[in-house]
Amino acid sequence: MQESINTYLREVLRESGEDVSGKLAAYIPRLRDADENLQALALATADGQECSAGDDEHLFTIQSISKPFVYALALDDIGLDRVRDMVGMEPSGEAFNELSLEGGTGRPLNPMINAGAIATHHLVDHSSHEQHPGGQESLSRTPEVRSRTTRILDGLSAFAGRQLEIDWDAAEEEYASAYRNMAIAHMLKSHGSLETEPDEAVRGYIDQCSIMVTVKDIARMAATLANNGVNPENGDRVISAESARTTLGIMATCGMYDASGRWLTQIGIPAKSGISGGIIGVLPGQVGIASFAPRLNEEGSSVQGVAMFQHLSNELSLHLMSNQRINVIEELQRRL
Ligand code: GLN
Repeated sequence: MQESINTYLREVLRESGEDVSGKLAAYIPRLRDADENLQALALATADGQECSAGDDEHLFTIQSISKPFVYALALDDIGLDRVRDMVGMEPSGEAFNELSLEGGTGRPLNPMINAGAIATHHLVDHSSHEQHPGGQESLSRTPEVRSRTTRILDGLSAFAGRQLEIDWDAAEEEYASAYRNMAIAHMLKSHGSLETEPDEAVRGYIDQCSIMVTVKDIARMAATLANNGVNPENGDRVISAESARTTLGIMATCGMYDASGRWLTQIGIPAKSGISGGIIGVLPGQVGIASFAPRLNEEGSSVQGVAMFQHLSNELSLHLMSNQRINVIEELQRRL
């Protein structure tokens, strides 16, 4: 039966692969040179079943898909009230890298856009963490950046259920031309929304974005959110159920940037995309879904990934607002 589910996933990949529009992200050298024909899809259920198809062993940098997980860690570390004092909870309706803050408060609007993600990055509690996220490679960072990155790398590894690593070369390349993110960090600092130095926040945020994952890793990370913060594979609690729920609320309203309303209406799954071509979706209590295909639409989300999610949502009735509550794997088995 597992084999027929994999065959089904391969069919979804084949159909979504027909659309070869979209472009690779040009502003990060590592992403500009990616193989645009790669494609993968993975499901991980809240009760620990997993299946995948395509280039499911291919490692890519997690980029913005790190944002909901780091937000969840910050919520767990310092609590919702303190996080909310620094980072808002409203959709921005703007591009991911917009230089914008909430009128009146000076906070970034939400943790899914870069301004909010850079602020959220510096909120995780790193005080009890060691400073060796990658040994030699990280020595050019300050101790504070290194311990924060260690906390985040360990936290994301717990979501994935295996030790993840950072692509230090990709991080260096992105940092070398991080003018926009530096501008955002300086804007935050000037409004009192950053307690660390702008350069340190951007350094660490880029290291966070450079964590390497496969589509299977991010499906399991999504499944941990679907499973109230407990990793379904090994049973470890990674974050509280409350932090998982809050994070899913933010993903539903803000996860797809300026396409968030359209996404929630048409696909109906709390989600987050990344500029390297990944998308995760979480159906609470049910399943984590992850796609990978590097060609991007105008909003910076994978063209083929959006098609894969639309396909799965339609065929398996995954829309959050649908009155059918289904068990995804049972539904797949029934149909195959
Ligand atoms: N590291 C990227 C940046 O900050 C992440 C952006 C994204 O994935 N949308 O620009």
